[in-house]
Amino acid sequence: MSASLKGRAVVVTGGSKGIGRGIAKVFAESGAKVAIMARNVDEAQAAAREIGHDAYGIYGDVTSAQSLEAAFAEVARRSGGIDVLCANAGIFPQARLEEMTEAQWELVSDTNLKGTFLSVRAALPYLKASSQGRIILTSSITGPVTGYPGWTHYAATKAGQLGFMRTACIELAGYGITVNAVLPGNIITEGLAAMGEDYQKSMAASVPLKRLGTVEDIGYAALYFASREAGYVTGQTIIVDGGQILPESLDALS
Ligand code: NAP
Repeated sequence: MSASLKGRAVVVTGGSKGIGRGIAKVFAESGAKVAIMARNVDEAQAAAREIGHDAYGIYGDVTSAQSLEAAFAEVARRSGGIDVLCANAGIFPQARLEEMTEAQWELVSDTNLKGTFLSVRAALPYLKASSQGRIILTSSITGPVTGYPGWTHYAATKAGQLGFMRTACIELAGYGITVNAVLPGNIITEGLAAMGEDYQKSMAASVPLKRLGTVEDIGYAALYFASREAGYVTGQTIIVDGGQILPESLDALS
């Protein structure tokens, strides 16, 4: 498959950094007109300039319905509609359950889960008008498949996105819109790189493919879901983790 998104209008929430930036890059290189949305608009615009291919940066906050409506109206005006929504923005601050405050829970939930709902709802009028509407969620292996101390709130939101997806895909099927999710494993982003080389090495050692994922690895999976060729695939997930969830014990890796 050589997916081409030539001329498709794509918006990537949280596209200024990390995985979103990788998705934006892969889509832009495949011919799409990509809008990169983040709260820090300077970073969004800088990422767009670096990516090139007519990508552009815009302001948007996924915790605010009003902000999303304004952002997507701007994308529709500048790109001539919206064909693909990559609902990717997410945060992952750590807090152990016993110390977790309601405010910490709510911030993660509002951004990752409610933010997914608000982004999809705000994009719907445009996706319905598209001949090839696509929604791609960035979930995670953490929550749907695995667990990690300090991330009960995060894991709940990432699993929640999949519950949302499985009903949204049915509701939206009548409009020809598909809804799918990519579940990344450990991906090298600015945040993970900042945790140092030792951390990266130990994480890579737990992956059968013996390396951490790249942001482009996630972009290619998202590109598949957005492609014409994936038009009959909806409500599905793809794990992109180098086989990380599979070993039954450390022995299985030796
Ligand atoms: P990142 O490097 O920290 O980037 C997060 C992006 O989201 C930034 O562009 C940030 O820009 C934006 N963002 C945060 N809050 C926002 C809000 N309220 N409204 C709009 N944009 C917002 O994160 P990442 O590691 O690439 O993670 C991206 C997604 O991948 C998340 O959904 C995460 O759960 C998922 N994921 C990541 C990994 C991994 O290994 N990195 C693994 C599994 C899943 P502003 O702060 O300027 O808004």
